[in-house]
Amino acid sequence: MSQSTATKHVDAVVIGAGFAGLYMYKKLRDDLGMTAQVYERGDGVGGTWYWNRYPGARCDSESYVYCFSFDEDLLQEWSWSGKYPEQPEILEYLNHVADRFDLRSGIQFNTSVTAAHFDDDSGMWTVETDQGDRVTSKYVITAIGCISTGQIPNIPGLDSFEGEWHHTGAWPHEGVEFEGKRVAVIGTGSSGVQSIPVIARESEHLTVFQRTPQYTIPAQHGTVDQAFLKEVKANYAEIMQQAKTSAAGFPYDASEVSALEVSDEERLKTYEELWQKGGFHFMLGSYSDIALDRRANDTASEFIRGKIREIVDDPETAEKLLPRDHPFASKRALIDTNYFETYNRDNVDLVDIRHFPIEEITSTGLRTSDGQEYEVDVIVFATGYDAMTGTFLKMDIRGSNGAQLRDKWSDGPRTYLGLAAASFPNMFMITGPGSPSVLSNMPVSIEQHVEWISDFIEYLREHDVDVVDAEQQAEDEWVDHVNEIAEQTMYMLADSWYLGANIPGKPRVFMPYAGGVNVYRERCNEIAAEGYTGFTMSESREPALTD
Ligand code: NAP
Repeated sequence: MSQSTATKHVDAVVIGAGFAGLYMYKKLRDDLGMTAQVYERGDGVGGTWYWNRYPGARCDSESYVYCFSFDEDLLQEWSWSGKYPEQPEILEYLNHVADRFDLRSGIQFNTSVTAAHFDDDSGMWTVETDQGDRVTSKYVITAIGCISTGQIPNIPGLDSFEGEWHHTGAWPHEGVEFEGKRVAVIGTGSSGVQSIPVIARESEHLTVFQRTPQYTIPAQHGTVDQAFLKEVKANYAEIMQQAKTSAAGFPYDASEVSALEVSDEERLKTYEELWQKGGFHFMLGSYSDIALDRRANDTASEFIRGKIREIVDDPETAEKLLPRDHPFASKRALIDTNYFETYNRDNVDLVDIRHFPIEEITSTGLRTSDGQEYEVDVIVFATGYDAMTGTFLKMDIRGSNGAQLRDKWSDGPRTYLGLAAASFPNMFMITGPGSPSVLSNMPVSIEQHVEWISDFIEYLREHDVDVVDAEQQAEDEWVDHVNEIAEQTMYMLADSWYLGANIPGKPRVFMPYAGGVNVYRERCNEIAAEGYTGFTMSESREPALTD
């Protein structure tokens, strides 16, 4: 950290201006009357939806629940056009929110936080940015997204490639021209599965490089049904309440039936109906034990494999696409539009890089370990993210007595509730590791965290507390609980980014909380009602600069 003196003091620094940062800033300013500075690395608001402009990008949550619920007028006035919200429309929505609540004045764009150090004597943070800002604040609140640091595999030769290449999470604003081009897409996660059908239509030829075959469910996307929308708007409060008290943050009725207690015929009928309904309904609405019992899960996995065989014309290609090495939904469940159908196109080839990895990127394309060369003009890296911890650890975050977050998390993230970390006083994380976050409909989890943090800050103010820190024991118990719950699920049976398995050398630790949004919310509420158990609270050793 530089030695120059701070140029500014605020009550809180908020890092990021996506869903989380926007709402957090609004809460701090409007409800708590605090001064806050938001730093945002993009030149506009939107976070994930600012960066992910790849073809076909849209959210897998249905649009009517992929939004803020804190303002009834906002809910009523905004109308989504699609069943699922497309990236440009989500970005428009977040810009609308920023304007409607006059939030831009608190945001400094094109600015990344590089360091945040806590000073035990003053009870203050000093925050530095890549633009030379140096600011002190009582609180630091991270709103940095869970999936915001892209990973490009370390394949030799990328520097020598003479064509264009892009990562899906840093897509050029002006778009990429695919017409007449030979394109390679590496990766078949959510970003690959969404972009592949669109790129196939736009390009001359597409080669998909697949490491792990995926289960994906059709979105059954379309325009919003106006009658449905009218009904939603008439019952919005109730619908949002149902989402908040559900396990995954969706207002869907959860099944209480085991996949193993119904006849094969009935089960197939249910799966077929939910396949036709599309999206997360298949996973969340079918059977109660799909995520918990391998035999129950096998019935869903086999149903999807049957669908792949049915959809894909060429049996050899179909065989390559069949996921067999992990159970359905043990990696992030995928939702697609015409993904498997795309392999029936004459201009699309599938390359199995599980058995023949990409060995080199040459000036003209890619070479796999079986000696095959693929000449392409554009390479699309749909290769994912250093999720949940990557963005934290890019920053130099130091807490009490100079403790470094990088050291603390060297064997995997450790937090209390995914909201705070012991020895990092007055720092809160919105949807941090150890919270339901990525296993839920994100705006629902974000709102819960922002509101919980705001209530806590209000409480601290009322009780004249200057410094608050998570207790080590509370954190240890929470981490144990997160692990214990994860062990009971299918999630442990796949090499997924939930476990950090996609990043070479990253500790294999299950990072989100799989116990459900509803259970988690209740626990957070109980902790608040008990006077915020699991936190130590003290007055600062020196008077605070403001208050
Ligand atoms: P991802 O799910 O991590 O998928 C990355 C893909 O790249 C996987 O197929 C992976 O193969 C492959 N890959 C990674 N490293 C590789 C390497 N070294 N060589 C070859 N292949 C490699 O990333 P993503 O698709 O960007 O999605 C990340 C998350 O963002 C999603 O799970 C989701 O939570 C979110 N997201 C959501 C939406 C949406 O709501 N619609 C859209 C996009 C993203 P392996 O499977 O073998 O690792």
